[in-house]
Amino acid sequence: MPDLSRRVALVVEDDGPAPITIADHLAGLGHEVTMIFQTPGPAPLVGKYSVGSMLARLDLGGVRLVPLARVVDIDGGTLTLAHSYSMRRWTVDGFDSVVLACGSVGDDALYREVKRQHPDVRLLGDAYAPRRMVFATRQAWELALALALG
Ligand SMILES: Cc1cc2nc3c(=O)[nH]c(=O)nc-3n(C[C@H](O)[C@H](O)[C@H](O)COP(=O)(O)OP(=O)(O)OC[C@H]3O[C@@H](n4cnc5c(N)ncnc54)[C@H](O)[C@@H]3O)c2cc1C
Repeated sequence: MPDLSRRVALVVEDDGPAPITIADHLAGLGHEVTMIFQTPGPAPLVGKYSVGSMLARLDLGGVRLVPLARVVDIDGGTLTLAHSYSMRRWTVDGFDSVVLACGSVGDDALYREVKRQHPDVRLLGDAYAPRRMVFATRQAWELALALALG
């Protein structure tokens, strides 16, 4: 993790759990974190029975939440935000660092390495495309079925 100063703006463009984990991590390191996201609540893809403990940690870590806001400009420590629906603009300032949590890309380096030595290697799960666990297990199930059926 590169050096970050105290007041961190966390720009979220990822509906999964990773941005919450980043906010929690930074708060745990003593940063004042402000999480800015476009949806009414953070991490809408995290199930309602899972997200509670994550939100508890953000609350206890003093993480400030700014919902329904899209970052349209970053000028030093000042961010210009636009409301997700009305497009109304406003600024928030006083930040020392800006962290972007804007999605993930699959890491298929191991697949490509092994494929050079074996003719039949398959790529599954988050290495194929980062999603939820059910996608990885469903892909694995379907591959196992296809292999069993020949
Ligand atoms: C913070 C966070 C929270 C999440 N919460 C949820 C949730 O609540 N519900 C949900 O459904 N999904 C959740 N997910 C997504 C879920 O974890 C993934 O979709 C799932 O784990 C993908 O499974 P996988 O087997 O493809 O990859 P992984 O679970 O990442 O397994 C890949 C494994 O390969 C190992 N590996 C990688 N490279 C090498 C190498 N070169 N040599 C040897 N080993 C290697 C890794 O160490 C790892 O153990 C979450 C993800 C994150 C990041």
